[in-house]
Amino acid sequence: MVKKIAILTSGGDAPGMNAAIRAVVRAGRINGLEVYGIRDGYRGLYEGGDNFQLMSRKSVTDIIARGGTILGSARLPEFKDPAYRQKGIENLKKLGIDCLIVIGGDGTYTGANALKKDGVNVIGLPGTIDNDIYGTDYTIGFDTCINTVVDAIDRLRDTCGSHERCAVVEVMGRYCGDVAKAAGLATGAEFVITSDTGLDLDYVLEKTKDYKLHSKRHPIIIVTEHITNVHELAKKIEDYSGFETRATVLGHIQRGGKPSTQDRILASRLGLAAVEYALAGKFGVCLGIVSNEIVSSNFEDVLGKKKHVFRNFEKSIEILS
Ligand code: ADP
Repeated sequence: MVKKIAILTSGGDAPGMNAAIRAVVRAGRINGLEVYGIRDGYRGLYEGGDNFQLMSRKSVTDIIARGGTILGSARLPEFKDPAYRQKGIENLKKLGIDCLIVIGGDGTYTGANALKKDGVNVIGLPGTIDNDIYGTDYTIGFDTCINTVVDAIDRLRDTCGSHERCAVVEVMGRYCGDVAKAAGLATGAEFVITSDTGLDLDYVLEKTKDYKLHSKRHPIIIVTEHITNVHELAKKIEDYSGFETRATVLGHIQRGGKPSTQDRILASRLGLAAVEYALAGKFGVCLGIVSNEIVSSNFEDVLGKKKHVFRNFEKSIEILS
């Protein structure tokens, strides 16, 4: 019978993590559980002490609309080392915590899976702007992120249109193209370069030259990070096509801001479900949303897998451009 649970946020922060923390704390308290918030992810779990804070209903007042994470997030590469995890496990045992809920991306899930194998009752929630977690259509933070990206690209299009410029925009996503694809369709971009398409430089150069010849005023090309140096790409496009071309790296603004309505709803549903799973003794799973239903998967079944929620978007974007 679960009496005490703990929650932490780990890896890259994502808007909506606070809404998930709030849901876990409120659902936990209403069910008579003690809920601990652990500061700074696995580092706080490892260091223990003041990093473990008992949470009350009131401690999560007014956080549903706030970006970032009130618990803080950190990276602890040493968590791969069983000795580091053991120290974290001892900290959980000292307080008699029966279940640990972690919110984060695939690195966090890898850590959670290791903890599971070490014997910890762990439940994972997908929190990352990249949407790169298998087993859930959407991750907490993705919707806010694409809204931010769409807003930024709309602004770029205004100024590019005035000056007849081509814009190359680098967006986040790690090795997943979902941010580029969703934002590409929503902004009417000319095309997107993702880990699925790769960079076909000749194609990009010919396409942009063609746009110039056919009097397109402001082509927008969205590129997922880690594929190429967008400043060098912009220079090559400018030299070949005749378009004045500027690269913009949107960077960390994509990770901040008030969570969107969709992210607040998703995070609240997942937080509630995590507590239900804990109360039912269903541990060692990560939760997600598929076709608007909350689902659970084993960590092993989601780690390292690629999903295709935005299948064929590249094609749709080009048809509509
Ligand atoms: P995200 O969860 O957003 O993908 P990271 O990849 O930085 O972010 O992972 C977050 C944390 O998860 C890392 O700092 C580390 O503490 C833990 N982690 C990542 N990979 C492993 C692993 N192979 N074994 C144990 N813990 C890991």
